[in-house]
Amino acid sequence: MRILVTNDDGIMAPGLLAMRRALADLGRLDVVAPTTPQSAVGHSITLTDPIRAHRVDLGGGVAGQGVEGSPADCVKLAVLELLDEPPALVASGVNLGANVGINVLYSGTVAAAVEGAFFGVPSVAVSIVDSDSPNFEGAARIARRLIDQWLARDVGRTTLLNVNVPDLSRGRPKGVRVTGQSLKGWREGWQRRTDPRGRTYYWMVGDPADEEQGADSDAAALADGYVTVTPLRFDLTDHGRLDEVGGWGLAL
Ligand code: MN
Repeated sequence: MRILVTNDDGIMAPGLLAMRRALADLGRLDVVAPTTPQSAVGHSITLTDPIRAHRVDLGGGVAGQGVEGSPADCVKLAVLELLDEPPALVASGVNLGANVGINVLYSGTVAAAVEGAFFGVPSVAVSIVDSDSPNFEGAARIARRLIDQWLARDVGRTTLLNVNVPDLSRGRPKGVRVTGQSLKGWREGWQRRTDPRGRTYYWMVGDPADEEQGADSDAAALADGYVTVTPLRFDLTDHGRLDEVGGWGLAL
């Protein structure tokens, strides 16, 4: 089986190395990932600039392809151009920093997996909570166990999973929770500064919001020490509101 490994932290990121190691005996790996960090670029794609791909020596006689583009660009280019065989699995990560709550929408890690799912390929995004010494290897091994169980089932209907791993330095995870995406956001703010030429610039700062999350949400379960698994979809339609908005009688 061919597995496309990608991420948004860049092709040399330790989380990608951990993912490669954890999946090495599951199939033949193709590594196609951004040459530069692309965190929080969401599902952006490159339309107005050329995209180049370079052979990148990953050590140990292994080479990947570094792409000058976004994570979504990487998967799109890999599937349609770079790979000589379509992947049977897209694995994105291991990302440094949880992708729960509305971070799911900002995440390049998740976007790469969504792009894989656009092609109908089972795709998984894997992230670990940010900490001083993130255990990428441990997170990737956990992801591998989950992937094995997933692939043993019918992956035809469930093509997109978002996996988050808690800080493993705080002990073994309590277990796995299949959870919904919370609405956890950020207490955002801007620092206004002045550059050496006297011009104002802004720097986004923010902390994870501390509002109560639903007890069965991804953010709450992750904070409680569980590995979370969230099946995602990319139909953003609010189906429950179609009738309501349809009833407004909108007209031109
Ligand atoms: Mn990232």
